[in-house]
Amino acid sequence: MSRYSSNPLSKLYRTAGWRRARAAHLGVEPVCRLCRAAGILNDGSLTVAGETQRDGRRRFLVVDHIVPHRGDLALFWDPGNWQTLCPDHHDITKQRDEQRGFSNARGADGWPLDPRHPANR
Ligand SMILES: [Zn+2]
Repeated sequence: MSRYSSNPLSKLYRTAGWRRARAAHLGVEPVCRLCRAAGILNDGSLTVAGETQRDGRRRFLVVDHIVPHRGDLALFWDPGNWQTLCPDHHDITKQRDEQRGFSNARGADGWPLDPRHPANR
């Protein structure tokens, strides 16, 4: 068994519960949230520039955890912590968050959601 497949966190994504939750979320939010904010309705078939995604392996949508769950099951299963992203925005967002050490995502009240955000420390 590979190191990846024995990771208990990656196992969560392969449960029937997550598959159901993911499908339900995509039913509610069927386009990338950040593309939509930029005026592009991307159902996973486009790039961040709004052009046809020519790489078939990147033609999908990610149900992303806005605040990284880091194994916290409450955060993992909280529908308020899910957002639909295209693979490009997922990569960009996660790389930035990792470099910065926290997520800049905000709740409906405009306050940063991540407990590691300086405003929440
Ligand atoms: Zn996007």
